[in-house]
Amino acid sequence: MPETSAEFSRNLRAAGVVGAGGAGFPSYVKAQGKAEFALVNAAECEPLLKKDQKILEYFPAKVFDGLELLMSAVGAVRGIVGIKKKHEKIIPRLEELAKGRKNISILKMGDYYPAGDEQCLVYEATGRIVPPGGIPLEVGCVVANVETLYNASFAPRPVTETFITVNGGVKKPATFRVPVGVTWRECVELCGGSTVKDPAYIDGGPMMGKVQTDFDLPVVKASAGIIVLPKDHPLILKKAQSRPVFTRVGRSACDQCSFCTEFCPRYLLGHNVQPHRVMRTMLFSGGPEHKLHSQYGLLCCECSLCSLYSCPEGLHPREACVAAKSDLREQKIGFKNSGLNTGRKPEVHPVRDFRKVPVSKLVRRLGLDDYNKDAPWSDAVYKPSKVRILMSQHIGVPCSPTVKEGQKVEKGAVVGEVPSDKLGCPAHASISGTVGKVNQKYVEIIA
Ligand code: SF4
Ligand code: SF4
Repeated sequence: MPETSAEFSRNLRAAGVVGAGGAGFPSYVKAQGKAEFALVNAAECEPLLKKDQKILEYFPAKVFDGLELLMSAVGAVRGIVGIKKKHEKIIPRLEELAKGRKNISILKMGDYYPAGDEQCLVYEATGRIVPPGGIPLEVGCVVANVETLYNASFAPRPVTETFITVNGGVKKPATFRVPVGVTWRECVELCGGSTVKDPAYIDGGPMMGKVQTDFDLPVVKASAGIIVLPKDHPLILKKAQSRPVFTRVGRSACDQCSFCTEFCPRYLLGHNVQPHRVMRTMLFSGGPEHKLHSQYGLLCCECSLCSLYSCPEGLHPREACVAAKSDLREQKIGFKNSGLNTGRKPEVHPVRDFRKVPVSKLVRRLGLDDYNKDAPWSDAVYKPSKVRILMSQHIGVPCSPTVKEGQKVEKGAVVGEVPSDKLGCPAHASISGTVGKVNQKYVEIIA
């Protein structure tokens, strides 16, 4: 057990622990803050992904160990595990474990999307609202993902494996561990191969994940899993639409009904995000009107609810917000220096609870009913012949390779490093072998 928070933070950095919920934020930074509450984000609200549930089912003690380490580092007086109450099989075991640990409790949440949005979880667990443009630490909270805490419990042991779910159009959907750097093709093969003819996949879940067609891309530490679907599935087609296309359609079809805003989880928390106003930017190619309406997208967390559920016309308000943020970034405008930063305290919308979107309805709307299967845990050990360790697996400065072609490396050796004064953490060999190709993007290791 590390004796100080500085030691824990050093261990996390040395181990290369990053946010395993998809973001990849280096965890050592969170451990340096001070917070009253340490929250475990176990809501896992991305439909069809199961890896957090399986970690809590099969390795709950390690997650609690990681939580206790985090609580001790940040000085938290309470640890709260936020999990959906539908996980009836897992919760009794968690409650039993919590009894044996000091100041840890279980928060049972409804099955709605996006229960796992960090700021929604903070509100549900503590009744506090993260200030607009702020982070949970500003209201005395630190939030960590299930797998992140699992990895933290082993630090400084390097992170060389990641838990993933492969679901959708595969013969045997499953949740399992693989060495970082294997390809998604190998993962699909481990699930018996694809059942769809011309497959694409969504990396990271149907709502916030990204459409990919290249199955030879490598798995990274922050990977949560993939959903395999036919290339012509409506969800794939919708998510893959380009900015010129969705702008052209949005300009002519948006009737300003504002459903996108009325269901927006951040708007319902009292933040001034109004995607229907951002949609108005499509009427202007630039100028003050464009800038004015773009600002209403600055606090968007990109959950996709507006684009994939709320909009009756099937338009792209989320993508409009993402584009607006990018345009404003070029003008060096963020929320803090925008016209919307009034200092007004956010107030939760009075009907927030009635506008929570049930995941079952969402799955239907996404056209995923036929693909919504369990992905049981498999503890089979996979030994790849080759891995590619990406130098950019975290938010911050990418790693620079520290090994040369032909060099022998052991599993766990550092193969990429970030200067100690920069945001980032090392990348490690996930298998033992000989270094193959080395470049600024990746280090290849051949077993
Ligand atoms: S819900 Fe759709 S149609 Fe209505 S305002 Fe939003 S983008 Fe426009
Ligand atoms: S994606 Fe849409 S619903 Fe989600 S936070 Fe952004 S504007 Fe709101």
